[in-house]
Amino acid sequence: MVFIVMKKVFSCKLCGHCCHGESTVSLSQAEQKGIASFLGLDPADFLREFCVKKGNRIEMKIVDGHCIFYGDDGFCKVHEVKPFQCRRWPLHPSILGDQKAWDAIKADCPGFDEDACYEDVCELVRRVNNGY
Ligand code: SF4
Ligand code: SF4
Repeated sequence: MVFIVMKKVFSCKLCGHCCHGESTVSLSQAEQKGIASFLGLDPADFLREFCVKKGNRIEMKIVDGHCIFYGDDGFCKVHEVKPFQCRRWPLHPSILGDQKAWDAIKADCPGFDEDACYEDVCELVRRVNNGY
């Protein structure tokens, strides 16, 4: 049932748009450790090589206009352990409070079905953010 709703409302087109531009994705300590371990790196080396500190946030570096983990093949190099914010995108809870938030996200993401209505998108956002 969930699968049917997801197919109708959203299907990622793997366009890579959300991996380009300035990052808004911050990495929790657990995510930093998880990605470092996935890459076989010491956490300190991982931070130095792949991350940037912005205030009290740790983010992935941006290289050539895209996230440092965005591969030449269009896939995420750390897909198996990518941050929660990346796994959830574009089904962000801000959509629930304001249809304009969905309009703005939809303008940047071609994965929403053109016939999807706001109510169906909200239902999917609720499911994703509640762990189904
Ligand atoms: S912008 Fe949307 S369709 Fe494109 S890769 Fe990101 S989530 Fe998928
Ligand atoms: S970690 Fe992966 S999914 Fe997230 S922005 Fe970077 S390349 Fe994209």
